[in-house]
Amino acid sequence: MAMNDAAALSGELEVDLGAIVANWRDLGVRHPSGPVAGVVKADAYGLGAAPVARALAAAGCRHFFVAQFAEGLALREALGHGPMIAVLGGFPPGADAGAALTPVLNAPRDLAAARAAGLRGAILHVDTGMERLGLNAAELAAAGDLSGLALRYVMTHLACADEPRHPLNVAQAARFAAAGAALPGVPRSFANSAGIFLGRDFASDLARPGCALYGINPTPGLSNPMRQVLRLTIPVLQVRQVPAGVTVGYGATWTAPRDSRIATIAAGYADGYLRALSGRGIAIAAGRPVQLVGRISMDLITLDVTDVPELAQGDRVELIGPQQTPDAVAALAGTIGYEILTSLGARYRRRYLPA
Ligand SMILES: *Cc1c(COP(=O)(O)O)cnc(C)c1O
Repeated sequence: MAMNDAAALSGELEVDLGAIVANWRDLGVRHPSGPVAGVVKADAYGLGAAPVARALAAAGCRHFFVAQFAEGLALREALGHGPMIAVLGGFPPGADAGAALTPVLNAPRDLAAARAAGLRGAILHVDTGMERLGLNAAELAAAGDLSGLALRYVMTHLACADEPRHPLNVAQAARFAAAGAALPGVPRSFANSAGIFLGRDFASDLARPGCALYGINPTPGLSNPMRQVLRLTIPVLQVRQVPAGVTVGYGATWTAPRDSRIATIAAGYADGYLRALSGRGIAIAAGRPVQLVGRISMDLITLDVTDVPELAQGDRVELIGPQQTPDAVAALAGTIGYEILTSLGARYRRRYLPA
């Protein structure tokens, strides 16, 4: 089978790099106190770290964050020299400090190792309420003079930024201000996506948004200010008539309540379309919402398209797009948009719309 024929039978994930860049610029307007980084950990939340970061760098983004050292090495390869690439998880023992990556120092022993290695220009992570990574106030006080490290930033991370009225937000802002006062002259990095929308007390010298770049709503409960970035379309492999009373799929969990038309499409939980969406998910067929019926299989999903008579084999239906956003899919699955994005499967053909 020729390549194009094969592609016709696989899912296609369209990533709009122009929308990602527009989201980054929009966040820059909302965060005038300092530049806005691109958080591209976990392969840019599943969308492709190299193409996403290249588009952001071309638009002027000079700071990137990844989670793991290997992600940083791959990103440096993709971006070449210039932009800062910070590794949130820090460096593994014995890592080459000359890798042109910026480690985040998360614990007193990271500080000791950095001093022993003569490392300069790292980022110091102070914990202000997440209790996950970072030095607490006592550890920071005990750390002594840090000027020899020539810290590039001091950062902290918000636990409840998507709940604007949560009391932990103001508590974290106060603790971070105190930590910053103990490190005069060191630039600060505070807000994630949702933090940018919390107001001036959360502004800093470098914001670190991830999800909002990719169209996830950073203001849950309010209308989404970000542009949508993704379109996931899946080909219809077959449309069949299923008489009333007949069951569909594994476990025979769905019984046709009427004579029905069932479309089987070429994606399943192996592609990251969560099995928890069985009987709950919505697809868009010929512009209209249709219901997933029966269980989601590893490679196949069945849809009730009785009310979309024109839908035929070879047509495409949309599982994610402007009408069925990652946040909407997440709500149906009982999770968050981040998990929908980072689960997107490896079998989808990826197409990048240029910035
Ligand atoms: C993932 C992450 C971010 C980005 O968070 P979003 O909610 O996706 O904007 C920022 N800072 C740290 C430390 C992170 O781990």
